[in-house]
Amino acid sequence: MRRNLLLIVLTLAPLGVAVRAQDMKVITGATLINPAGAPLANAVIVITGSRITQVGTAATFKAPSNAETVDGRGKFVMPGLADMHNHLGDGGLQTKQNVVANLARMLSVGVTTVFDPQLSEAEFTQLKAAAAADTSPNPRFFGTGPSITVEGDALSAGSFKPTTPAEAQAAVRKLKALNVDAIKIVRDDARWASSRLLPLMNIDVLQAIVDEAHKQSLKVYVHSPQLSQAKDALRAGVDGLLHGIIDEPVDQEFLALVKRNSAVYVPTLGLFEDVADISAWAKRQAPYWDQLGLQPPAVYSAYTSGAGAKLFQSIFNNTAYTRDHLAVLRANLKSVADAGIPIVMGTDSGFFGVFLGAATQLELELMVDAGLKPVDVLRAATINAARMIGQDKQLGSIEAGKHADLLILDANPLDDIRAVRRIHRVMKGGVVYDPARLPR
Ligand SMILES: [Zn+2]
Repeated sequence: MRRNLLLIVLTLAPLGVAVRAQDMKVITGATLINPAGAPLANAVIVITGSRITQVGTAATFKAPSNAETVDGRGKFVMPGLADMHNHLGDGGLQTKQNVVANLARMLSVGVTTVFDPQLSEAEFTQLKAAAAADTSPNPRFFGTGPSITVEGDALSAGSFKPTTPAEAQAAVRKLKALNVDAIKIVRDDARWASSRLLPLMNIDVLQAIVDEAHKQSLKVYVHSPQLSQAKDALRAGVDGLLHGIIDEPVDQEFLALVKRNSAVYVPTLGLFEDVADISAWAKRQAPYWDQLGLQPPAVYSAYTSGAGAKLFQSIFNNTAYTRDHLAVLRANLKSVADAGIPIVMGTDSGFFGVFLGAATQLELELMVDAGLKPVDVLRAATINAARMIGQDKQLGSIEAGKHADLLILDANPLDDIRAVRRIHRVMKGGVVYDPARLPR
């Protein structure tokens, strides 16, 4: 025990950081679930400041006695969740949202990392500032800032709409200067949801975006839920898909392109359930507000009673197509996972009817319903997510040296994924939170 403490003091001494006992926490007696490895019973997890400094079992080392002890007996510890497609809106019809307050609300449902593909420059900057400190009571924040899309795409406020390769390069350089974590592009005529088709970006513009982004060491993620359009983006070299493929079964060519690019697949099953039947989807999310202690969105009754649903269907008027293709979407997730392609969890929260917090917990279940094992779903929401943003040395598992972002659960999520809702404590940057006391 003393040796461990001494070792840490010596390691940090050159930086002039004195380790006090109150900076040290130890979680004892829990089962540790790192989804990439085997569960570890009777674990000892030492946290110093905001980092995990030691992981072992009670059999291999003794917990430091001068640390603050968190009793984990009978509990399960897993890395914090990452929602890698979350627009930080409440899912209502209001476009103006307090994205910073909404980011904070994600912590209570176990989300310690958020990736937002599409928001304004001002919001991006605000969110980065709010989440900058390791110990801030917000999830860590990553995002693309404004997306790069086409004229006529009304859902992407503040986005870039280049029409030539030179304009495309300029847009990427502007985003690089904004310090974005990745680039988001749109390649979708929206046929799967609407009869009012959007134009598709010219291939030379698309290619120029990907080439310039890669030159600037930025990955490119695409909104492209239809097979042939997604293949166009993959041929240009994109690094991942921000939605599952809904129109056709994925084929060998698609899988080969995804593998060639080492791309990730974010299925957003809930978003498609929502478009297919917004009223039914709203109702399906409702029980989660009670269980998670969330506020019901003000718009809930509008979606379920008809007025909101009608408004939604006046924009998205091909929802029957979406409904008819949900089976294709689910089968595609299984095919992509079986091909060994990394799946990453994301929800499209903030889109009309995809409610903040509830949708994230429900997405985990939808992935299991589509045929994934709970352990694969946990991987999608932790280590695979960290890899997607190049943060896997810092995040995504409970290992010495990584950020202390973790959940203490009352039940085992490997047995039943719904255990992820049963959050006893959230730890973010080494700070312990009771979810009932967090903003919800
Ligand atoms: Zn989205």
